[in-house]
Amino acid sequence: MSTSTQQSTLVARSGGRTSGETGAYPADLSLGVTYARDDAYATLAQMTYLRDQGSASLRDAESILRDLEHGQDALLLSSGMAASVAVFQALPAGSRVVVPEIMYFGLTRWLREFGGVQGLDVVEVPNGDLDALRDAVNAAPTALVWLETPANPTWLVADVAASAEIAHDAGAVVAVDNTVATPVHTQPLELGADLVMHSCTKYLNGHDDVVAGALVTADSDAPLWQRIRLQRQLGGAVPDAWSTYLLVRGLRTLVARMRWASASALTIAEHFADHPAIERVAYPGLATDPGHAVAARQMRGGFSGMLSLFVRGDVEPSLGVARGTRLFLRATSLGGTASLVEHRFTFEGPRSRSPRNMLRLSIGLEDPADLVADLEQAIEGARVR
Ligand SMILES: *Cc1c(COP(=O)(O)O)cnc(C)c1O
Repeated sequence: MSTSTQQSTLVARSGGRTSGETGAYPADLSLGVTYARDDAYATLAQMTYLRDQGSASLRDAESILRDLEHGQDALLLSSGMAASVAVFQALPAGSRVVVPEIMYFGLTRWLREFGGVQGLDVVEVPNGDLDALRDAVNAAPTALVWLETPANPTWLVADVAASAEIAHDAGAVVAVDNTVATPVHTQPLELGADLVMHSCTKYLNGHDDVVAGALVTADSDAPLWQRIRLQRQLGGAVPDAWSTYLLVRGLRTLVARMRWASASALTIAEHFADHPAIERVAYPGLATDPGHAVAARQMRGGFSGMLSLFVRGDVEPSLGVARGTRLFLRATSLGGTASLVEHRFTFEGPRSRSPRNMLRLSIGLEDPADLVADLEQAIEGARVR
């Protein structure tokens, strides 16, 4: 397993190509969608059209993601959801898929709305419950086990190595949404997973100005991977050149940003762990967290920058705290330089599974003492008791 020192070297050199004609660094942004043929009607670099083969910039981004995750191949897609959905749409009709009860809400919704139409048999198991996973994959032939760890928005931890062993024994493929941990803290392919999915919109780009997603495979010859490739080509969820460029630029600072955000999140989690206004802090980095033992084994160099505070009371006191913050921006999403606070229950609406008194925090790159002080004054102002 590579150390994060090697990773920082890798990302610092992201897109280290220079432009052939001028030597411009970074290399000129290639905006072309189509590729000219020569006099003999031959392609110059076996490229004909952006959606079919990607572009040089797209391939740059893909090779960085592939190397960060220690995979054999990577595909960039137009959003994290497009990447997730590409996996489910590449499965044969009637496939049985096992997913966690708690995961990114958009995917839960997509499976509810479209899983049936796609002919998928979707089975949910409690996060991190290996016995339930074993029962589920052995109850009937299962095509795919989907994991997300730490799982948005309560940061429940799944043991990737143990889950992969159970899934593989039953003949299922394992995909892991690694958006929150990022390859800096967890490398699912090294732990036995077959596929990794990322919302590049979050930490990988890290500046709240790109929507993109990615998939990385441990086996570029796997039939499912070939189907996923074809799904992107024909389904058409290819990111544009500007997003790809910004993503590569964001990746250059990924390791430095993750180290800072994870260290700050731990400081903030520890500060509020015994706070009278806070019922519970969900953060796998806390020794008291139910997922800590697995996380400590599986995660390296930190536990990511995401945590949730359960404010004493019901909806109102937690919303009061969110309303009172001055530094934290009240907004959804995660993984950017600015810290965000979100009341997931309000955002998700009546079918939400998020706890009513929970505030999800995305810790950015501000000084952690300022963030603690901001939350303290907001709690004070909300008169939580
Ligand atoms: C945001 C997110 C997604 C979806 O990604 P988009 O780029 O918004 O489509 C998937 N999984 C997790 C954990 C996320 O946070």
